[in-house]
Amino acid sequence: MTGWIVAILLLSGLIGLHLGWRRRYRLLALGQAAKPAGLTDALGVTDMFENMAEGVLVTNQKGIIEFANPSFCKLFELAAEPKGQTVMEAIRIHEVHELVNLLRQNNQVVQEEIMLPNLDQQFLQVNGVAIRDRNENHRGAIFVFHDLTRLKRLENLRQEFVANVSHELRTPLSIIKGYVETLLDSETDAESLSHRFLKKIENHSNRLTFLIEDILALSHLESGDIGLDQREVNVRQLAEGVLDGLREMADKKKVRLENGVPENLTLFADSQRLFQALNNLVENGIKYGGACVRVSATNANGELDLCVEDNGPGIPAEACDRIFERFFRVDKARSRELGGTGLGLSIVKHVTQLHGGTARVESTLGQGASFHLTFPTPQT
Ligand code: ADP
Repeated sequence: MTGWIVAILLLSGLIGLHLGWRRRYRLLALGQAAKPAGLTDALGVTDMFENMAEGVLVTNQKGIIEFANPSFCKLFELAAEPKGQTVMEAIRIHEVHELVNLLRQNNQVVQEEIMLPNLDQQFLQVNGVAIRDRNENHRGAIFVFHDLTRLKRLENLRQEFVANVSHELRTPLSIIKGYVETLLDSETDAESLSHRFLKKIENHSNRLTFLIEDILALSHLESGDIGLDQREVNVRQLAEGVLDGLREMADKKKVRLENGVPENLTLFADSQRLFQALNNLVENGIKYGGACVRVSATNANGELDLCVEDNGPGIPAEACDRIFERFFRVDKARSRELGGTGLGLSIVKHVTQLHGGTARVESTLGQGASFHLTFPTPQT
């Protein structure tokens, strides 16, 4: 009998406990639903943002700041969180203001590097993404600001070092070349051992000269502080100049050169730098290509596409993705043998990017390669 009483008491205790917890859970759920949820609360990440080393900014659908973490305030030297202000009111940086506007219209991820207008030359990388609700309505945007200043300084130091070393190497190298040429002139027996050795020294010092010139050109282009001397360039004439300069080399290798660029096609560009890029591509076509190298160009849909194609062995698909990297060569030994430095295509890429364009290659193994430089052109 007492066993039954204990069992009944235990059961009623459990039922009471269950009902009590159910009520508490309902109240909790109701309380949360009743609380007005801001954008960052809804995301439930405010606490995490507070402790991040990167600056975080959240704007709502009207572009008004809803949240800025302490790192953001520190980066922009703000005394308090600029909640309720627009980006222009809070930090007065046009680039960020434009990103906010862009994300209000587009559902995309944006990335931009900006320099703060202070005396410390501070660089930031901004990554932004639009926030959409389940019905694809714009709810605002989140931005993360990374401080790139230290990285940029190191990068500048590296570039300066490379440029200085290359520059310092130039003088002794030209002296060595001068002596070798004099010795070669006085050596009449072309079959003698000393003549052969001198010829080798001459070849290698020439290679070293090309390498130094390419490194200098590249570090100059990479430094970003070169001014472009842009004006209307007749693309056909420019291509003709490049082909003329390389005709002797092409004749020696029995390569036919063709200029298929239409008359009167112009591009607003720095002609010397564009010449350099086109020259590298045509020279590669002669060195690595087949029997014909052709330059052509089209202008459509606000883009000018400058193309250099050859009918040589082509480039393997896995190499196409890496071909514009510094010192990347498909066949190292062959490139060296032909006097290549492995920097030609990097220079092409940088020159194109400086003009706001892109460089790419299309190739099928055994069926040649076509290099395309695409430049934006204002539509008329
Ligand atoms: P390099 O000084 O070695 O020519 P580049 O940067 O100009 O350096 O070219 C990188 C590599 O790309 C070359 O070593 C070569 O293997 C390959 N390459 C470039 N152009 C062509 C081409 N037209 N056909 C086949 N391979 C090419």
